[in-house]
Amino acid sequence: MIPILDSKRQYAKIGSEVEKAVCEVLRSGSYILGPNCKALEVELAKYIGCSYTVALNSGTDALHLALRALDIGKGDEVITTAFTFVATTEAIGIVGATPVFADIDPDTFNIDPKKIEERITPKTKAIIPVHLYGQPCDMDAIMDIAKRYNLYVIEDCCQAIGAEYKGQKVGTFGDIGCYSFYPTKNLGGMGDGGLITVNSENLRNRIIALRNHGGAVRYYHDEIGVNSRLDEIQAAILRVKLNYIDEWNKLRRDHAKTYNELFAGCPDIQTPKELADTYCVYHQYTVKIPNRDNIHKMLQEAGIGAMLYYPVPLHLQKVHAHLGWTKGMLPNTEKDTECVISLPMFPELTLEEQKTVASTLINCIEKSKAAV
Ligand SMILES: *Cc1c(COP(=O)(O)O)cnc(C)c1O
Repeated sequence: MIPILDSKRQYAKIGSEVEKAVCEVLRSGSYILGPNCKALEVELAKYIGCSYTVALNSGTDALHLALRALDIGKGDEVITTAFTFVATTEAIGIVGATPVFADIDPDTFNIDPKKIEERITPKTKAIIPVHLYGQPCDMDAIMDIAKRYNLYVIEDCCQAIGAEYKGQKVGTFGDIGCYSFYPTKNLGGMGDGGLITVNSENLRNRIIALRNHGGAVRYYHDEIGVNSRLDEIQAAILRVKLNYIDEWNKLRRDHAKTYNELFAGCPDIQTPKELADTYCVYHQYTVKIPNRDNIHKMLQEAGIGAMLYYPVPLHLQKVHAHLGWTKGMLPNTEKDTECVISLPMFPELTLEEQKTVASTLINCIEKSKAAV
């Protein structure tokens, strides 16, 4: 059995450091908004290259509070991709705004800047590009559109910590960047967690208030906020893991290169393409194959933990049915939803395992072709 992700192997390496950090928190008596949260915010601002970060409860809250901080709500439209995790559009719905979908570039799976402009209306307030699978979006093109139409940009970096576009880390191009520390992410906690990156001090202060019941001063509340604080235990764990993130991302990139080489002679397997001058961090290694559903089943039976991210594009999900999107409106998104499959990818994956994954996938494709 080769799982898509094996968190236990990572723990075997760093467990003693993590346990020490957690025990210190337990003994300290300070469990919420304490020294670890503050230190993590400073360390991550330095790592990502922005003025401020604000640690939160989840990536979903990061997106939600980013929209709130920019006063986006009822009557506003936000342009984004339908080829992402539901949290991206869920956050838009939570604030009462309307998601508007632009199709993807089939090479990168990310929002196609050329498809954004035709979706802009007088109600459009923001664009949310998602750096899917750890691949940076074409930020020059997106920022150019945002400037010309005076739109905010909120980057969904939940799958892309450490990823770079032209030497600059994602989350620093737009007005706000949103990160997730969900355990399966490249920098994952041992529970939920999230983060906002921001350069504006005003936005930072607004988000700090929003995460703690809408007030900067305790027991004085200026607006409706939420409880979205990152706890000290998670912050302490993340501070330990932050020391390894570059090494882990590098290993992911090495594994992606190995997979690419193993699939080089297989015209049926379309390996992921990288945009020029980017540093992709391969949260997922996702290929396109024919007969996908069949082969997915065969892989699972063979003990390969391949997964489908995501089986239904967001414009065709029940939650957004009332918006009136139908099949055929986002052809690239719909086509890729039917042929993508993500293979085992995590820093501790071995070469032997990669070879097994590759030969099994190639065999399954041959078998399914013979069966037709
Ligand atoms: C994981 C993820 C989120 C949500 O993050 P949570 O911490 O799970 O709330 C949002 N967007 C994308 C693209 C994600 O992968």
